[in-house]
Amino acid sequence: MHNLILVLNCGSSSMKAAVLDGTTGDSHLNVLAEKLGSADALITTKHQGEKDVFYFKEHTTHDHAVRKLLQILQQHGLSEDIIAVGHRVVHGGEKFHASTLITREVLEDIEHCIPLAPLHNPAHLLGIHAAQDAFPNLPHVAVFDTSFHQTMPEHAYMYAIPRKYYRQNAVRRYGFHGTSYRYVSQAAADMLGRNLDELCMVIAHLGNGASVTAVKNGLSVDTSMGLTPLEGLIMGTRSGDIDPSIFEFLFDNKHMSIRQINSMLNKDSGLLGISELSNDCRTLEEHAALGHDGAILALNMFAYRLAKYIASMTVATGRLDALVFTGGIGENSASMRQRVIQHLGVLGVHVDAELNAAMVGGQAGAINVATDVVHTLVIPTNEELMIAKDTYALTCAE
Ligand code: AMP
Repeated sequence: MHNLILVLNCGSSSMKAAVLDGTTGDSHLNVLAEKLGSADALITTKHQGEKDVFYFKEHTTHDHAVRKLLQILQQHGLSEDIIAVGHRVVHGGEKFHASTLITREVLEDIEHCIPLAPLHNPAHLLGIHAAQDAFPNLPHVAVFDTSFHQTMPEHAYMYAIPRKYYRQNAVRRYGFHGTSYRYVSQAAADMLGRNLDELCMVIAHLGNGASVTAVKNGLSVDTSMGLTPLEGLIMGTRSGDIDPSIFEFLFDNKHMSIRQINSMLNKDSGLLGISELSNDCRTLEEHAALGHDGAILALNMFAYRLAKYIASMTVATGRLDALVFTGGIGENSASMRQRVIQHLGVLGVHVDAELNAAMVGGQAGAINVATDVVHTLVIPTNEELMIAKDTYALTCAE
């Protein structure tokens, strides 16, 4: 065990960590710190199937969490074998087209991207600084959610607003979930026994946040999220696409501020807002089966918007060899996949009910009927593995 990579994903009040083998991808440890910034923070460790919880006694920062992580690594005899640290960073703006070794200049560039991701990037920086203090002799790598989408053509990433906002403030579409798309597109090519650079795919990453990406010859050519993750699909609590005039309308008629409306669109909308019940797809499916009209409407709207987006992404790819589902919903909800595919007969996509029902709980495989030209696949994503591999490649590979 000499090739271990520590993968860190710091949010504003959480820190996820994993230890993976940089060569085999085997996972050795998972740690989740929650409620950071409060007095009742806790850290959960999963090691060889055993779970352990530690409750912090004082107000806990990212620094405390990383120091506790170091202790946990030592307890499990892993700290000596860690050779590099890979950090997930949500926003790399236009600067980062690929993962990169973290230098002082890179930290400054991540800082410059804070206006584009005011909640995420500051938390990543706290995590990186804390980890650099805890592991001063190890190389650190940043892996960006946005970098995979930097290959989008101008006509896909620009907004139809005066170009000065792009020139002066970098207002454009960036897209997210890039690490997941990179992993899943390669896994899909492997599953089909084809070269990635000859495949046209549409991939739907459907988790609590959800997006769709057109991948042509291994490159992102369009994606549904934009300047922020709010654009595009209906999500757990996000509205996705909406007429921007809603800001003036709700200001005039409900006296809501920009901040209140933005918060409503990000936190109270989507599946939660429509169903008036939950943002969780599984809960909605349970209640829809019992006739809950909000749950039924939410699931139908989610599927319809998604199907429209999948169809529109084939304009960007020009051809459709594979349609791929991933993320918590994409990997587990046979009924949501069925709802979506029902709308996609026009693309020649049909679902095999038996295969579809079997592809849950981490299974990977095809769910299309045998006569379909388009391969419809379910592939569990693995962003941690991708971060570990990038980190290994940038720091250790000969
Ligand atoms: P993620 O953000 O990728 O963890 O995905 C979370 C979403 O996946 C939530 O909406 C969950 O309800 C959904 N999900 C997970 N398992 C299932 C399942 N068995 N059936 C339906 N939805 C599921």
